[in-house]
Amino acid sequence: MIKYSLRCSHGHAFESWFDNSADYDAKAAEGALSCPECGDSAISKSIMAPNIGKAAPQPAPACGMGGCGAGACAFANS
Ligand SMILES: [Zn+2]
Repeated sequence: MIKYSLRCSHGHAFESWFDNSADYDAKAAEGALSCPECGDSAISKSIMAPNIGKAAPQPAPACGMGGCGAGACAFANS
């Protein structure tokens, strides 16, 4: 499944899930997409920042007082 940020010709932004990019293309081609606000079927796909090529910094794991998770915790042995 893939989530796209979509936008109608009136500028309403919304999000929708698709099986894959071909699923989006097929639905867009047959006019199956419509704006939930105004019903406009002129939907375009917003540019989304890809999650590849640039690793987001990993947040520190949330550790409970009693440790967390079978040695997987980065702080368990420090
Ligand atoms: Zn709209």
